[in-house]
Amino acid sequence: MRRIFGTVALLSTAACATNPVSGRRELSLISEPQEIQMGREASQGDVKRVGEYGNSGAQALVQRIGTQMAAKSERPGLPWEFHLLDDAAVNAFAYPGGFIFVTRGLMTYLNSEAELAEVIGHEIGHVTAKHTVAAMSKQQIAQIGLAGASILSQRVAQYGDMLGTGAGLLFLKFGRDDELQADELGFRYSLNLQYDVRESPKVFTTLGRLSAASGARVPEWQSTHPDPGNRVQRAEARLATLPAASLVNTKVNRDAYLRVVDGMTFGDDPRQGYFRGARFVHPALKFELTFPTGWKTMNLPDAVVAQSADGTAQLQLVPATGTPAQALQQFVGQQGITVRQQSQTVVNGLTASLAEFDATTQSGTLTGVAAAIQHQNVTYVLFGISTSAAAPQQSPALNAAIRSFRTLTDATLINVQPATVQLITLPEAMTGQTFLQRYPSSVDATQVYIINGIEATTMVPRGSVLKRVVGGVR
Ligand SMILES: [Zn+2]
Repeated sequence: MRRIFGTVALLSTAACATNPVSGRRELSLISEPQEIQMGREASQGDVKRVGEYGNSGAQALVQRIGTQMAAKSERPGLPWEFHLLDDAAVNAFAYPGGFIFVTRGLMTYLNSEAELAEVIGHEIGHVTAKHTVAAMSKQQIAQIGLAGASILSQRVAQYGDMLGTGAGLLFLKFGRDDELQADELGFRYSLNLQYDVRESPKVFTTLGRLSAASGARVPEWQSTHPDPGNRVQRAEARLATLPAASLVNTKVNRDAYLRVVDGMTFGDDPRQGYFRGARFVHPALKFELTFPTGWKTMNLPDAVVAQSADGTAQLQLVPATGTPAQALQQFVGQQGITVRQQSQTVVNGLTASLAEFDATTQSGTLTGVAAAIQHQNVTYVLFGISTSAAAPQQSPALNAAIRSFRTLTDATLINVQPATVQLITLPEAMTGQTFLQRYPSSVDATQVYIINGIEATTMVPRGSVLKRVVGGVR
């Protein structure tokens, strides 16, 4: 958990406009100023909630490649912005109006500027070809539908599928044709900046391997950018049609790229909260709580959420404003909530307000308990809900979890550090497997091979730079 919710409000009116890429006139629900406003609001919300991986050469590189590429695109006049998000998800995405995001998670899996250029070019393509406008308008309609319901049911809907995307960002989904077009545009934009486009299929190969690796985090980029079918083969086919002259003087910039990912956080940053089994600890905010055993749990930028295995109960923790009494009042004052009992109490030495309630939602009546607890300078609202049928069984578990909220005092848990990428220059040629033995990593072997784009048997030449991962919570 990092930050508090930002909201996105958007407008739409119908107009006819020329598509900058196809040159065709098409019906657009949204004018360009509206497109920019829509993208900017969504973008600012994500930056605020997730945070940027700032103060880094990596961020500067993303901005440099993006800015140069966008200037040569069909829509150079948009207020292009390129952000590197402090997010472990392996992802890149675009909002209408030219707001492009790459995650640090993705950057740790790439191995050259040419690969990064392919990804950024693809995202720019979604904006120049106006895929983002169409996708966002569609999703907006769905969101407006939800906004009419209470915040409670909105949250339930939002986190209902907890095995979905990691960071809880508003991802736009594109169709097959849009993906094909974005791949092609990315290829062309990369070439415009003299990047060696022979590197581009490697991005798709790496993400494919990451998907296939059992137990690994599925790259979000793959779920939000569906494979249009044989993506690697299509990239190779595009290469085959390219005149040899266009590959003269192209650049890969592998070593320069690797230098900017040296020392980069790898995987989830435990300082933003992490689980040890059912126990959740937050080193930066210095609190902990223990969720019911066996529940599915997730640490999101703006909430910590958990759900019983059978799906009949949920528990969420969110930051709130005001005193515990005010925060609780704001929560139970929502439409559809009926308070059965309310009290002031102390939870592990912390001032708290407690309420038991019933909630009427679109999916039926829910029974719940909410607590607003003051810890240091923040008030947290914890609320547990279950279906009324499951309440007799789930209520004790929800109450126990809420009452487990306490100040985190264990220095070992507070002083935890994230895993980081470390570069090794090979003193002699060696296989991937030997590299792993000689320079151990704190993640499994498969991950090390994937982040380097090699196999166990690959013979890597002397003087090559490879990545390993050190430190972190085991
Ligand atoms: Zn895409």
